[in-house]
Amino acid sequence: MAVKTLDDLLTEGVEGRGVLVRSDLNVPLDDDRNITDPGRIIASVPTLKALSDAGAKVVVTAHLGRPKNGPSPEFSLAPVAKALGEQLGRHVQLAGDVVGTDALARAEGLTDGDILLLENIRFDPRETSKDDGERLALARQLVELVGGPDGSGGAFVSDGFGVVHRKQASVYDVATLLPHYAGTLVAAEIKVLEQLTSSTERPYAVVLGGSKVSDKLAVIENLATKADSVVIGGGMCFTFLASQGVSVGSSLLEEGMIDTCRKLLEDYGDVIHLPVDIVVAEEFKANSPAETVAADRIPDNKMGLDIGPGSVERFTTLLSNAKTIFWNGPMGVFEFPAFAAGTKGLAEAIIAATGKGAFSVVGGGDSAAAVRQLGLPEDGFSHISTGGGASLEYLEGKTLPGIDVLDD
Ligand code: ADP
Ligand code: MG
Repeated sequence: MAVKTLDDLLTEGVEGRGVLVRSDLNVPLDDDRNITDPGRIIASVPTLKALSDAGAKVVVTAHLGRPKNGPSPEFSLAPVAKALGEQLGRHVQLAGDVVGTDALARAEGLTDGDILLLENIRFDPRETSKDDGERLALARQLVELVGGPDGSGGAFVSDGFGVVHRKQASVYDVATLLPHYAGTLVAAEIKVLEQLTSSTERPYAVVLGGSKVSDKLAVIENLATKADSVVIGGGMCFTFLASQGVSVGSSLLEEGMIDTCRKLLEDYGDVIHLPVDIVVAEEFKANSPAETVAADRIPDNKMGLDIGPGSVERFTTLLSNAKTIFWNGPMGVFEFPAFAAGTKGLAEAIIAATGKGAFSVVGGGDSAAAVRQLGLPEDGFSHISTGGGASLEYLEGKTLPGIDVLDD
C-alpha cells in the first residue's frame, strides 16, 4: 500500500494551510450526557496536536451516535468539544452547524494553530447517503472550509479508524477531492492489521463475544480457516449452543443464524470452542440473582449473562501458549459487576500471554471500554484498536473504502 501519512504532510508543510481531519469521537454518553469512556477522544489527540503545533488551521469533522432526523441537541458534539479541548490543552471551537453559515464564518476566521470542530456530521443526511452525487455535494462543502482543492491548498487527514469501513462523505468522498494522508491513528491501525493477517505467528487464537452473531459470523467463517482456535462467549455463544440442540432459556438467540452456526461447528469443530458453563439470571438487571450452571442445563426461565469459571479456566489454557491473539467482544454483560468475571478472566489470560511474548490486539468499542472499566492495564495488550467494525471487516478480507481511497 502506498499511503501518505501525517509525517509526509508535516514535511510538506502545513503552516497557514487549512487541514480537514476526520476523527472518530463517537464516545459513549450517559443519560446526563457525561462521557463515560473518553478513549476515542484521547486517541484522536496526537494527530490534532501535531497539526495545530505545526500551525495548520484545523477543521475537525466527526459523528456522534445515530441521529435520524437532522440536528438535535441530544446528539450535539458539545460535550466532546469540551473534553477534546481539555485533552489538547487548548480551546476547541464548536461550530453551530455542519457546513452552514456558522461553520463557514468560523472556518474563515481561523488563525494558524486554531482548531474548529464541526457539528455532528450525521446531522446532514448526505453524509450517509447511498447517492454518490449527494455525498459528493457535502464533501465539496467540507472541502470549501479548508480553502478548497486549489487556492490556499487544503489537505485531508483521515484519522477516524472506526469509520474507514464506511463509504461516507467525510470518510471517502473528501479524500477524492483533496490531497489525502493517513493520520497517526489510522496509520498505526493499518500496520497492526497487516501484522495480524500476514506473517502471523502461531498458535493464533481468536476470542469472540459481544451481542450479535449476525455481525460477526463472516469474520468467524474467515478466521476459523486461519486461526488455531476460536473461542466463543458473550451473547453470541447461545446461538451456537442452540445449534447443538441445547436449550438456552431466555438467553440472546438469533434463530435465523442457527443453521449457519451448526454448519460452522461441523466444518471447524476442532477449532471453535464454546463455553462449558454459564452464569444465568432471571432478568437482564445488575441485581438479578446470579447462579452458574452447566452450558447444557440453562433453566427455561433464565438467561445467560456471562460465561462461567469453568469456561474461563478452559479458555485460559487455550490462550496460554498463543503467540498471536485477537479479541473482539465481551464474554458477558460486563457493565453489571455480577456478570463481568468472564470478560475479566479472559482479558487477564490475554494479558498473561502478552507478558510471555504474544502479540495481542483488542478490537471493538465495548471490548476496549471493558478493559478500562474493569481496571485492567491498557498496556497489558500489544494494541487496543479504536474501530471494532473496521477491524472485523478487514479481517473478513473485505476492502475498507476509507483506506482504499488513501492509496495512490
Ligand atoms: P464490541 O463493541 O467490543 O465489538 P459488541 O458491541 O458486539 O462488542 O457487544 C458488546 C455488548 O455485548 C456489551 O454491551 C455486553 O453487555 C453485551 N453482551 C455480552 N454478553 C452478553 C450476553 N450474554 N447477553 C446479552 N448481552 C451480552
Ligand atoms: Mg459495540
